[in-house]
Formats: sequence, C-alpha cells, structure tokens
Amino acid sequence: MRTGIGYDSHRFAPGRPLILAGQRIAFDRGLVGHSDADAVTHAVIDAVLGAACAGDIGTLFPDSDPKWKDADSLLLLRLAVEHVRRHGFSVSHIDVTVILERPRLGVYKQAMAAALAGECGIDADRVSIKAKTNEGMGFVGREEGLAVLATATVEGP
Ligand code: MG
Repeated sequence: MRTGIGYDSHRFAPGRPLILAGQRIAFDRGLVGHSDADAVTHAVIDAVLGAACAGDIGTLFPDSDPKWKDADSLLLLRLAVEHVRRHGFSVSHIDVTVILERPRLGVYKQAMAAALAGECGIDADRVSIKAKTNEGMGFVGREEGLAVLATATVEGP
C-alpha cells in the first residue's frame, strides 16, 4: 500500500464553465486553465501518480502540448491510472478536499465521486469528496479561485 498527495488551484473568470470532477457546477464563473481547468481531477491525478512515484501531471500532460488544450480532465485521469497500472499499481481509495467559499458542492458530491471512481476502476464508496470554506481568508476567501487537496492510496508490488 502506498499513499500519494496532490494539490491544485485555479483562478475564477467569468464566461467559463465550472467543472469539478467532470461535473458542470452551476455558478456565475468558471476556472481558467489550459485544459478544462478541472482542479479536483488534476489534484487526484497528481495524488495517483505520486502514490506510484510515477511522475506528475505536468510531465505526463505538458500544457505546452496543444494536444491537451481544452482536454477532458477525466480522460487525463484515465490515462494516468493506466500509466500507474503499467508500473504495477491499482488505485484503492481517493480522498478529496475542495477549498472554496462558493458555490456549495453538496448536491454534486455523489456524482463527483462516481465520476472519479469510474476512471480509477473502483466503487464510488471508495471515493470521498469534502468541501470547506477558507473562512474568508486569502485568495480563496476573496473568491479569486479555489484550491483542492487530494490523496490516493494504491496497491502494488
Ligand atoms: Mg490544474
């Protein structure tokens, strides 16, 4: 058993969809990024890769490569899970904390967990999604963007 940690943050901007763990979240702003800016999935990708000591999201999917422009991040997660599988590891658990002031994610949590679990090849009850505010402090508090922490546990050789 090994555990990896992942972190991501993206900036809010008007005129962009807000996509977290592949789910379109109703909000008046979205996240800016080279891909779909799905910060939850990006943090999970880094956690999975970190657990297997198999690189990071930037080395696997460089943002200098036009191939990944507006990429569906759930597809990137699937590719990352296949990558660690080639190293002999399979994902057994994912835990996510999303740090944001708004919007509230409660109604989306089940769908977010199911989407991440599907790409990781595990049951949805092995994916935990939590959300909390930053008590008004810092860039999250000013609603300039959001941040995500994730851990992944993998089983391997
Ligand atoms: Mg990112």
